Amino acid sequence: MKIHIIGGGVIGLCSAYYLRQAGHEVSVIDQGDFSEGCSFGNAGMVVPSHFVPLASPGVIAKGLKWMFQPSSPFFIKPRLNISLLQWLWQFYRACHPDRVQEAMPIIRDLNQGSKELYDELSKGLALPFDYESRGLLMLYRTPKGEQEELSTAATANQIGVEARALTPSEVQKLEPDTTVNTLGGVLYPGDAHLAPHQFMSALVNDLRQSGVTFLPQTQVKTWQTSKGKVTHLLTQHKEKIEVDQVILAAGSWSEKLLRGLNIKMPIQDGKGYSVTLPEPARRPTLPSILSEDKVAITPMGKDLRFGGTLELGGMSNAVNPNRVKGILSALPQFYPDLAIPYQQNLDIWVGFRPCSPDGLPYIGPSRHIQNLTIAGGHAMMGLSLGPITGKLVAEVIDQKKPSVNLSLLHPERFA
Ligand SMILES: Cc1cc2nc3c(=O)[nH]c(=O)nc-3n(C[C@H](O)[C@H](O)[C@H](O)COP(=O)(O)OP(=O)(O)OC[C@H]3O[C@@H](n4cnc5c(N)ncnc54)[C@H](O)[C@@H]3O)c2cc1C
Repeated sequence: MKIHIIGGGVIGLCSAYYLRQAGHEVSVIDQGDFSEGCSFGNAGMVVPSHFVPLASPGVIAKGLKWMFQPSSPFFIKPRLNISLLQWLWQFYRACHPDRVQEAMPIIRDLNQGSKELYDELSKGLALPFDYESRGLLMLYRTPKGEQEELSTAATANQIGVEARALTPSEVQKLEPDTTVNTLGGVLYPGDAHLAPHQFMSALVNDLRQSGVTFLPQTQVKTWQTSKGKVTHLLTQHKEKIEVDQVILAAGSWSEKLLRGLNIKMPIQDGKGYSVTLPEPARRPTLPSILSEDKVAITPMGKDLRFGGTLELGGMSNAVNPNRVKGILSALPQFYPDLAIPYQQNLDIWVGFRPCSPDGLPYIGPSRHIQNLTIAGGHAMMGLSLGPITGKLVAEVIDQKKPSVNLSLLHPERFA
C-alpha cells in the first residue's frame, strides 16, 4: 500500500519505520527539513515512570498558583480563544479520579511496549543514539515533594511499574561524580534515556536506506476529498500530491489541519525550553526530574541537557527569560555543581508539546475519512511513546489486532 505521512517528528518517523517494516511504500512530508522541532531538542527521557496523565486531581490548583509566579514551570497566556477555552474545560473534566484510573493502565502499557521497542531499536538501527537503560531518579527537597513522590511510587508498584524509594545517601551513592542535595528520591529502574536528535538522525538514515521518500520544505495546506476519502494533499507551492492512505502526525499543528476536514481534535501547544551544556566538568550520570520545580536533567553523551516549563501561549517562538531563569535556579538546589548563570549566549531551545486535554494520545483511524489515520497529542511523552505509536499505526493500517487497547485513544473522542 502507498502511504503518505504528514509530519516528520518522532511520531511520523516511527510510523514510517514500522509501516516500511510491514512492507508498505512510504513517503514522509514535512514543512521543515527533518532536523528541527519538538522531537529534536527534548529531554530525551523514555519514561515508563510517567503513567499518571497530565490531567489529574490536584494539578489545576497547582497550575493556578504557578500562573502568578513569573519563573514558575507553568503558564497560560490569558486570551479569549475558543479552542483554548474548550480545551481547558475538557482538561478540567479529565482531572476526575475515575478518568485517571482508566487512563493509567493504558499509559503504562504504551510506555512499557515502547521501552521494549527502544531496546530493540538500540540494536537494530545502524547509527547509535546514546541510548542508556539505567533508570530515572525523581528527586525532592521538601516534605510535600516527598509525600507526592512516595505516593506516586506506591501506585507505581501497585500497577506493575517498579519504583524504589531512596534515602539521600542512597541517591548520592548512585552519583559518585557530583554532589546531590535531596530529602530523598525514587528510582524508576525501568526508564531509559537517549539523545533525541541522534535518534531522529538514526531513523532518517535507516528510512532512507530502506527506500522511504522524504519531502522536505513541503507544507500541507489543505485536503481534497471525494466520497469520504482524501484524494489529494495541497501544498503551499500549490502542488497536488495524490494519496492512497494518509497518516496525520503533525504534532501541535494537527488540530488546525484537521479543521479542513471538519474533524475536531483538541490540541494545545505546550511550549517548553531546553538548554544544553557542552561537556560540564561535573555532572550527574543518571537522568533526573526535580519534583517541586518540574525540571528534567539528562546526560547525553558527554553533554548535559535540562528542560522544563509548560506554557500554553499560542505558538510563539519567543523565549521568556524568566522561565529559563526558573529552570536554571532549580539546578543548584539539587546539584550544587550546576550553578549556571543566565547569559545571552546560552543554547536555549524551544519546542511545542502537542497536548491533548485528557493526557492521552490520539491514535487510530478517523471515523469520518476512510483513508486517514491519526497519531498525535503525546504531550510530554512523545519521544517515549514514538516506537509503540508507530507500531500501532502499522497495525491499524494492516487491520491487525492492536498491541495496546486503542478504545480510549480514539482521535475523534472529543467530537
Ligand atoms: C522541553 C521539552 C522536553 C521534553 N522532554 C521529553 C522527554 O524527555 N521524553 C518524552 O517522551 N517527551 C518529551 N517531550 C515531548 C516530545 O518532545 C513531544 O511529545 C514529541 O516530540 C512530539 O512529537 P510529534 O512527532 O507528535 O510532533 P513534532 O515533533 O512537533 O512533529 C510534527 C512535525 O509535523 C510537521 N508539520 C506540522 N504541520 C505540517 C504541515 N501542515 N505540513 C507538513 N508538515 C507539518 C512539523 O514541521 C513537525 O516536524 C519534551 C518536550 C519539550 C518541549
